[in-house]
Amino acid sequence: MAFFWYNTQIMKWTKSLIQTLRENPGDAEIDSHKLLIRAGLARKVAGGLYSYLPLGMRVLRKIQQIVREEMDRAGALEIVSPILQPAELWRTTGRWDTMGPNMFKLRDRGEHEFALGPTAEEVFTDLAKGLVSSYRQLPVTIYQIQWKFRDETRPRFGLMRSKEFLMKDAYSFDADAEGADKSYWNMYHAYERIYGRCGLKAVAVQADGGDMGDSLTHEFHVLADAGEDGIAFCEGCGYAANLEKAERRCPAAGDKAEGSGFAEVHTPNAKTIEEVAAFMGLPADAFVKSLVYVADGTPVMVCVPGDRDVNDVKLKRFLGAKAVGLADFGTVLRVTGANAGFVGPVGPADASLRIVADASLRGATGRIVGANKDDFHLRDVDLARDTKIGEADFSDLVVVKAGDVCPKCGKPMVIKRGIEVGQVFKLGTKYSAAFNAVYKNDKLEEHVMIMGCYGVGVSRTLQAVIEQSHDANGIIWPASVAPYMVVIENLDPSNAEVTKVADGLEAELEAAGIDVLVDDREERPGVKFKDADLIGFPVRVVVGAKGLANGGVEVKRRADDKSKTVIAPVADAAAAVRAALG
Ligand code: ATP
Ligand code: MG
Repeated sequence: MAFFWYNTQIMKWTKSLIQTLRENPGDAEIDSHKLLIRAGLARKVAGGLYSYLPLGMRVLRKIQQIVREEMDRAGALEIVSPILQPAELWRTTGRWDTMGPNMFKLRDRGEHEFALGPTAEEVFTDLAKGLVSSYRQLPVTIYQIQWKFRDETRPRFGLMRSKEFLMKDAYSFDADAEGADKSYWNMYHAYERIYGRCGLKAVAVQADGGDMGDSLTHEFHVLADAGEDGIAFCEGCGYAANLEKAERRCPAAGDKAEGSGFAEVHTPNAKTIEEVAAFMGLPADAFVKSLVYVADGTPVMVCVPGDRDVNDVKLKRFLGAKAVGLADFGTVLRVTGANAGFVGPVGPADASLRIVADASLRGATGRIVGANKDDFHLRDVDLARDTKIGEADFSDLVVVKAGDVCPKCGKPMVIKRGIEVGQVFKLGTKYSAAFNAVYKNDKLEEHVMIMGCYGVGVSRTLQAVIEQSHDANGIIWPASVAPYMVVIENLDPSNAEVTKVADGLEAELEAAGIDVLVDDREERPGVKFKDADLIGFPVRVVVGAKGLANGGVEVKRRADDKSKTVIAPVADAAAAVRAALG
């Protein structure tokens, strides 16, 4: 039977507003960003702001649907809360002042302050406080899929880091720690299913707890060279951690002396470790790199081996500071007596300056350090003898590198790049205590609820799929999130018989729950195939007068090359498509 005009499942290319582009957008640095725009999935409105076009919207909806189904399966309850969030809620936790410039703030006509929600812990904690009174209602997890806003320093990579993005955020509320643990792993496993169903190979890695201290948290990463995060992996035991968090088994410091004794060395114009090392003919790890930081307003010197970088996140945690950053030139000169490049831990100008050092420098001798005097270094320095760095000033402060030893099993680690598509987080009582979000136990005593929060970057996930699954010709969508699972190339739209076969197959597949786009454009086959490959429909069916005369239609998977094309008689075409979809 014929389909009615209002059946929205029937879609012809000429009515679809699909527009592919030949040129890469000028601001696109990574493949998935280029393909997102060229395939006509989204269009830039302004930096970090995108409109999702019909094809992109279909993908977004499919990802949302997977997220929704897995949240529901995990027992979470869907709600939606306002994007516009009153300042009072943020003031309750103090985050109105600590969120920093990433939070969009605005006022209404009555001068009341609001934020465009960058996340929603406050809103959900307040909500749970109002809805939950008894232990009988716990545990409970509430979620939403809602637009989030962040005034990112550098919005880039298309949907990967945008100012407005779609996030699924969930918040769990439990009566006790054991329950909170269960809720955490429940969400963790739901995330594994979500990314798996989106066709993504995602890995869970340990991450830094940020303000939450050593709280348990995992990030889910899609491995890709274009990823913004570095991740340390141990192929021996499976240890995986974001570089912000990754630890290493600390090597012994040892003695690097070249036997010439403690002395000042004139090192004119040699500022960087590389320059001084070349000048003195010594390896970089014979040097101590000394940097002046400012932690919550107080200068502190940080010493690491010459061939290592300071990990600001570890430093911040070790110092218990809210913020750390490199000191300006004036401060460096004032506290050390020298300009950057000649700074060192032996007798800085400000004798009260705190000096901390990486654990691998514990007991280090025979080192070269800046002399706190321009154009001079000191050689054969014994950190214990010559500096005031005490036992409590050593900690793991460096960024892990490839080849560093796994803290768990002792095997060497490798570093890969990843795109963070989600994060699960044990929050404890930070938010519930601030809101006094309590429940009554069976003895009617009040206790603060224990929370977890869980985010999926829905729009970032869309682009991560592209980043992980494309080739030189375009995107290769997994069927589960493809804008359409099948494209039918009608090569002779003006030929009634060909069109009848194409449209008949479309109807048959749609009836079987397979979404189909019919390319009914009067274009050369080459143009049509190129577009189909660029957009990346998982299966392409070619219907043409010549083919029909020769026995049927062509069915080909996007991921396969031409040699795997199947010729199916019209009667078997739907079955061949289903087989190709797998
Ligand atoms: P990032 O470290 O990449 O800035 P985040 O850790 O600050 O992200 P969360 O607060 O954990 O982000 O948010 C949950 C998820 O939302 C992230 O895992 C990520 O997938 C997504 N996300 C965060 N910021 C953006 C953004 N600016 N654009 C698109 N997606 C984002
Ligand atoms: Mg995160």
